[in-house]
Amino acid sequence: MYLKEVTLQGFKTFAKKTTIAFLSPKPDRQGITAIVGPNGSGKSNVADAVRWVLGEQSMKALRGMSTHDVIFSGANGKTRAGFAEVTVTFGGTEHIEGIESAELALTRRLYRDGESQYLLNGQSVRLQDIHMLLAQANVGQKSYAIINQGHIDHILSASPEERKAFFDDATGVKPLQLKRHKALLKIEGTRRNLSQAELLLEEIAPRLNTLKRLVRRLGQREEIEAQLKEKNIHYYGTLWNTLALQLATEMKVFTAHEKIVKEQTAALEKERTAFHTLEKAESGGKTKNPGTEGITPLQARYEELQSQRDALREKRFAVEKEMELSRAKSASNWAPLPLAKIIEHVSGIVALVATLKKKIKSGALSEADLDDLQSASSTLVTRLRKTAPEITRPDTEKQKEVAVLFKQDAALVQEIEAVKAQIQSLASASKNERQELFALQRRLLAAQESLHDAETSLNERRVVLARLETRREDLEKEMKEAIGELAPDAKAYTKGADVDALSPEIQQLRHTLDMIGGIDEETVAEYKETRERHDFLDGQITDLVQALTDTEKIIRELDEQIKKTSSQSFKNIQQHFEHYFKILFRGGSARLEEVRAADMAEIVPGVDSESHSPLAIRHSPQDIIGIDIQATPPGKKLKSINLLSGGERALTSIALISAVMATNPSPFVILDEVDAALDETNTVRFAEIIQELSTHTQFILITHNRATMHAADALYGVSIGQDGVSQLLSVKLEEVAKNGTARR
Ligand code: ATP
Ligand code: MG
Repeated sequence: MYLKEVTLQGFKTFAKKTTIAFLSPKPDRQGITAIVGPNGSGKSNVADAVRWVLGEQSMKALRGMSTHDVIFSGANGKTRAGFAEVTVTFGGTEHIEGIESAELALTRRLYRDGESQYLLNGQSVRLQDIHMLLAQANVGQKSYAIINQGHIDHILSASPEERKAFFDDATGVKPLQLKRHKALLKIEGTRRNLSQAELLLEEIAPRLNTLKRLVRRLGQREEIEAQLKEKNIHYYGTLWNTLALQLATEMKVFTAHEKIVKEQTAALEKERTAFHTLEKAESGGKTKNPGTEGITPLQARYEELQSQRDALREKRFAVEKEMELSRAKSASNWAPLPLAKIIEHVSGIVALVATLKKKIKSGALSEADLDDLQSASSTLVTRLRKTAPEITRPDTEKQKEVAVLFKQDAALVQEIEAVKAQIQSLASASKNERQELFALQRRLLAAQESLHDAETSLNERRVVLARLETRREDLEKEMKEAIGELAPDAKAYTKGADVDALSPEIQQLRHTLDMIGGIDEETVAEYKETRERHDFLDGQITDLVQALTDTEKIIRELDEQIKKTSSQSFKNIQQHFEHYFKILFRGGSARLEEVRAADMAEIVPGVDSESHSPLAIRHSPQDIIGIDIQATPPGKKLKSINLLSGGERALTSIALISAVMATNPSPFVILDEVDAALDETNTVRFAEIIQELSTHTQFILITHNRATMHAADALYGVSIGQDGVSQLLSVKLEEVAKNGTARR
């Protein structure tokens, strides 16, 4: 990159638009341009203009008091300018990293109202972008790219910080330092985010813990519910299958009894037919027997009584079955009051007692209050005692009915016995004549008796069966209520368990569930949400900590690189300094000594909990924070640079700046009368050094010295008129040679 041209307008004495064009570089040599002219003509203003357009912020460096001091302030008959504008055009910019065009025009403009602008190829840019660009192009803008008039020996009297800036430019670590600075900013941002995330995490942590506890209870609940489920299945499964087995067995018994009744009925029918057949044959026969006449109505009466007895028995069984069923029902319907309800009642009573106590104290207790307490207590007792009404109040009506039916049966039995006795006496009276008929009649009676017995037994079995079936129905209902959808599982459980042991266990589990209480769905949802947020923040914190570690690592690497580069460059500068010093002084010795940060600050590895800022300290121990210069001109013994003469100071400074340029060439350098204090011989040596360095650096030299002008490839003159406006004119080199000077 090189300076192609500078255009000034309204800048200091350059009221009119003026363009200074510089020579383009040759393959192995950059141009040297000299600017000459009388005192006060505006030569230094050109250097100021370049300094300004490159982003100089210090008014002191621009030789002004306030920002608009750079705007042409007017003079005799010339009105002041409304704005100052400087454009510097660079050529060869395609070599700069990240830039494609071969030319770059950088403009700075300032209006009187204070509005200011930076433009890059006409596009508005930030100052920061310009700094970046210049750093990239290796323009040591802070120090040696432009050396102000009278400032050449500043490096000798500079403070450690100023020297540090100079050497940062000189060693070419500026871009690395910019990167480091960016990384530091990133770290600061990351730390801010980190502490924010940590704060948020801290905020939600207590709520999360509360929710966790609540939800842990849900876990307990689920576990107990699972246990309860299993026990219920075992309990009801056992009940169900035991009952099913009983039913099946009973069914078999019942069927057997039915069969017996059928057989007995058939047997009776057979006997009856036999009896009536014989009876008809005999009564339709020749002889009328008094015994025969009497037996038929007796037999009819007997059968009549028997059927009455059957009817009675059926009635009694119906009633007994009803009683039996309601007893079975009541046994399964009984259910105690739920614990929660009991607690509710007792709490109510406790509260009531407390109110009554207060009333006693205030003397306002009435009998009605006590009635309230009594009724509340007895309601609870009643409810706790509440069992099946059928059990507490046995159905006396039905019992009476059964007793009556028994009595009627007994009466019938008596009558039957009487009829039987009559038949007996008839049989014995008729002697042997009708023995066959009487034998049949006896068998008929016996058949009737055993049918009756069989039917009685069948009815008993029917009651038992009905009772079992009712129990099954009730159990089915109870299961539906208690375990709902689990009923099929319970029915399928055929192993069998100890129901007497299970029952209290189930009660205990139910009680525990009551104690745990229900869990709000919203709580669960909130827990999930809070935990997700917590996990998210936690992840974010991990990421941020990782990012911090990474960036810190980058910074350490950069530090390492900066250290390496600067120490290598420093060595080179050191060598060149000695070399140029010896050329300029024709001998003598010069040295640079590094002052390092080692004993001033150190990096604290890891995270310092208090400051949270392990990298806040800008210096690594190896950072050069100051440079000591030792210079001894030939034949002298002095070491301190303070004891050097003005010319010696200038020469030493030139040697140092030349060393820097040789080590880390700036693309261009503007030197404003750095040769002012040199004698003629030294000016020649200076010019030689400039020519040597121009292989890598373009020079713009403001000078009054002939030897320096001779070193230049092009010469510009600056003059100033009565109107206080600078004018630019080309000067032929031959003219300089003739007059010995370009001064007017
Ligand atoms: P020397 O050879 O003595 O160093 P020079 O050619 O370098 O002289 P400059 O320092 O460039 O001279 O010019 C200084 C002149 O510029 C001063 O006379 C000063 O009054 C004038 N000047 C500075 N700022 C302004 C301004 N804003 N408006 C008008 N003139 C200004
Ligand atoms: Mg000057």
